[in-house]
Amino acid sequence: MNNYLELPPDKLAALFRDWQLPEYRIKQIRRWIYARKITDFEHMTDLPKTVRSLLAEKFGSILRSKELKHHISDDASQKLLLELEDGERIECVLLQNDRHHRTACISTQVGCAMQCSFCASGMDGFVRNLTRGEMLEQLLRLNVLLPQDERLTHIVVMGIGEPMLNLDALLDALGEATRSDGLDISVRRVTISTVGIPVGIRKLADAVVQTGKGYKLAVSLHAPNDTLRSQIIPYNLRTSIADIFSATDAYFDKTGRRVTFEYTLIESLNDQPEHITQLAGLLRHRTALVNVIPLNPVLALNFRAPSGKAVQHFVERLEACGIQVKVRFRKGDKIAAACGQLRRGES
Ligand code: SAH
Repeated sequence: MNNYLELPPDKLAALFRDWQLPEYRIKQIRRWIYARKITDFEHMTDLPKTVRSLLAEKFGSILRSKELKHHISDDASQKLLLELEDGERIECVLLQNDRHHRTACISTQVGCAMQCSFCASGMDGFVRNLTRGEMLEQLLRLNVLLPQDERLTHIVVMGIGEPMLNLDALLDALGEATRSDGLDISVRRVTISTVGIPVGIRKLADAVVQTGKGYKLAVSLHAPNDTLRSQIIPYNLRTSIADIFSATDAYFDKTGRRVTFEYTLIESLNDQPEHITQLAGLLRHRTALVNVIPLNPVLALNFRAPSGKAVQHFVERLEACGIQVKVRFRKGDKIAAACGQLRRGES
């Protein structure tokens, strides 16, 4: 059975030609799926009945996963636990704020191989990459959670998995999401967050130049020196902060987009005065933003969140060094949907 969301435009067009369906049918279907949030061929009422039945026969259903759980938090965050066709499970999140941001946080892999010591996503190991269709499906499913007259405005690729290890499929899915006849999300409102894999960052920079789609890049720095960073992010043993910065410098040069450095603040571990000095030293001559994320506690992982006062102190000291800083306020933590709390299984 053909899988609708997996097919890139040229393959889809070829199939429609084989079936002697005119190309404008594809446009009609796109409008149903992306603009009207309808993913059942039967309900696409401007298609002749015969065409609807043919499509249902050739494709089965457009959405392939099963929604196992739908959590709604009192801060309006919503989290879906999805079961994929092969029985694997992933989570994705809808975040909302009072500035009308409707943000989808999507996963790129089943599980994660990075094993960062403060993050739940790697706790059950790594299974496989997600496909383009499985990433698109997360977006469509989150989009329908919104009222009919609202749509997703932002995407953060900050769910489970390391995006740079599944970059081709991700760019395919984001390409679709940012098309004006797709979900029509502005590329400037799409952020890809990586553990910091220099070859991946360079590849992304080239893709941005080639396609003109200037996605925002965020790098999970979390420590200002390699000794500390390697302690909490095992992948750092295979690279270094210097290599990461040379890749992010290239990203900035090629794309003109300021890079964000995420810094999950963990009590007594990376929040000390020397860390502020070192971090400021790394960023002083760069166009960059530090995104401070107070740790979201993960059960079974032995780290503590800093106090509000400690966060404020860290931010003020960094700003006093001339660094641009933003704090990422906690969202979705009551339903275990905050940064670092998403998992493959039940949470
Ligand atoms: N794999 C990608 C996306 C991860 S999620 C990456 O590594 O960037 C987005 C951010 O949340 C990352 O910066 C990640 O390191 C951070 N994070 C992970 N666990 C966290 C936790 N328990 N508390 C706060 N932030 C966490």
